Amino acid sequence: MTDLSGKRALVTGSTSGIGLAIAQALADAGAAVMINGFGDADEIEAHRADLEQRSGAKAIYSDANLMNPEAIDAMVAACTSEIGSPHILVNNAGMQHVSPIAEFPVDKWDAIMALNLSAVFHTSRHVIPMMRQKGFGRIINTASAHSLVASPNKSAYVAAKHGVAGFTKTIALETAEDGITVNCISPGYVWTPLVEQQIPDTMAARGLTREQVMNDVLLKAQPTKRFVTVEEVASCALYLCSDGAASITGANISMDGGWTAQ
Ligand code: NAD
Repeated sequence: MTDLSGKRALVTGSTSGIGLAIAQALADAGAAVMINGFGDADEIEAHRADLEQRSGAKAIYSDANLMNPEAIDAMVAACTSEIGSPHILVNNAGMQHVSPIAEFPVDKWDAIMALNLSAVFHTSRHVIPMMRQKGFGRIINTASAHSLVASPNKSAYVAAKHGVAGFTKTIALETAEDGITVNCISPGYVWTPLVEQQIPDTMAARGLTREQVMNDVLLKAQPTKRFVTVEEVASCALYLCSDGAASITGANISMDGGWTAQ
């Protein structure tokens, strides 16, 4: 079993979905965790307290809006002063917008680039010097099957996730001799609020019913015909934090039920 006691992890976008499951898996292995994201204050506090129970170490929360580089500076500084500089950075926060290109709202393009791509650059550039000092680091980026293949009406998301995959490879090379690994996990469709929220837009963009979107658009891509679970993604992240994964760097690990094998 992976033992992360004494380690500190910063997991972005971890108040729900995949990020929360990763934070829980890291806490179960003993890591002190900083979570980040938006949502109901009482629910977030319940998650934070639960993480402390799981790890027996400190768990803290940052409400930083990762579209804002200055907020990212402050989040990393708070993590470092309150629990210590992170050994593990999980860049997970992300958003989606579904629209044909001619009508794609410019503000949504800018927001997706800022959150899904630029935030990964800003957190990494702060954290890598601290990981180098420790001679140990694990950076895990939640990319997507859309870092490898495209779907119509998701131009910003697909462009940003392809960018994350390229960034991951580049930074893996830059840190290869420093005890740091940098990888991305590329899930197919995982049942989370992010997927649930895009169903109405996909219904409108393609003129389909909810059932048609679920079966003919989402699960059609996945040969397993089932959604990936957040626990499966979290178990992969935990493995990447282990000593056994020390030689895995620059990889883009597909967890997509066979989608990109086709
Ligand atoms: P989710 O909507 O459940 O979680 C997103 C998290 O990001 C939440 O904690 C939210 O509060 C946070 N967040 C949103 N905007 C933010 C901002 N501006 N600043 C800081 N935090 C912000 O979604 P999810 O499905 O768990 O997605 C997590 C990651 O997984 C995303 O990067 C997404 O692109 C990726 N992904 C999801 C799927 C899927 O099918 N759900 C598939 C592949 C990749």
